[in-house]
Amino acid sequence: MPDISEYTPESLKELLVSLKIPAFRSKQILPWVYKDIVSDYSQMTNLPQDLRTYLSENIRLFTVDEKLRKISTDGTMKALFALKDGETIETALIPSGDGVNYTVCVSCQVGCPMNCAFCATGHMGFLRNLTVSEIVDQVRFFSMVLGKQGRISNVVFMGMGEPFSNYDAVMAAATRMNADWGLNIAARSITISTVGVISGIRNFMADPRQFGLAVSLHAPNDEIRNKLLPYNRGIGVDHLLKACKDYANVTKRRVTFEYCLFKDLNDTYEAAKELAEKLRGINCHVNLIAPNETFDHGLVASPRENVLAFEKYLTEMHVNVTLRKSMGQDISAACGQLKSENS
Ligand code: SAH
Repeated sequence: MPDISEYTPESLKELLVSLKIPAFRSKQILPWVYKDIVSDYSQMTNLPQDLRTYLSENIRLFTVDEKLRKISTDGTMKALFALKDGETIETALIPSGDGVNYTVCVSCQVGCPMNCAFCATGHMGFLRNLTVSEIVDQVRFFSMVLGKQGRISNVVFMGMGEPFSNYDAVMAAATRMNADWGLNIAARSITISTVGVISGIRNFMADPRQFGLAVSLHAPNDEIRNKLLPYNRGIGVDHLLKACKDYANVTKRRVTFEYCLFKDLNDTYEAAKELAEKLRGINCHVNLIAPNETFDHGLVASPRENVLAFEKYLTEMHVNVTLRKSMGQDISAACGQLKSENS
């Protein structure tokens, strides 16, 4: 059975015409899918009854089925979704603090093949890619939950999985999130985060749309990065940074680097110095993150004074840097904590 989120206005019209249903019905259906998001075709009140029945029997309206919801003391929400084959994923909804705008942190794979040393998703291994609909529906679901109480202003592909290992579905999902007939979220407010898949970065920079790029860097050199992110072994920091620099030059957009600080590993004065040197000339911003608890991986979070010294040094070296506060830790909804099953 196809899913409604697979369709674009054009392909939905084609389907309707092939069923001898007037094409204009597409313009009535899509707002119920993306604007006044309904959970049942029977709520699409401007459609004839026989069309509602046809749709409910032939096209799946939601590919994610909420099994559990947790709410953090900071207002972050986490949903555990079952997919149609029984696999499960998690998605987070993060309030911006203004009472209106929210960010959805979406998953793009069940598990992840990248196996980063400190990430709970990598620890569970890789099961499969998500489909376009499964990605879009995480955002549609939360938009439906918020209703008139708020709006989804941002989407970050920072949940489970590596977006550039599922490139086509991720970009097709981002298209539906961005389109005016879709969720109408500004392209600049949709950020894709990668461990550093070079081919993905190169394809991404050729896309004319203004989606944002974040790179999980976490280290200034291969010796450290290989320990934290095994995927780096085939890539190398310098090669990755060259692709990031090209991206920034071609798109005129700034790259965000994520940098999670671990004691005596990547939080030293030498690491800060090497990082500042290597980032020189790249239009970028560094987000420093304290590691969230995942499993017993043996790495130790950087003490507060090292974090502050690291930040201070980068600032002095004219690197744009922000100390990020983690959201949703008490419900395991923070960076690196999302996984399958009830957690
Ligand atoms: N695979 C993509 C998308 C995942 S984004 C990527 O690597 O960018 C999830 C972010 O959380 C990544 O920056 C990841 O490195 C980071 N992360 C993983 N485990 C973490 C942890 N325990 N604490 C803080 N951040 C973590």
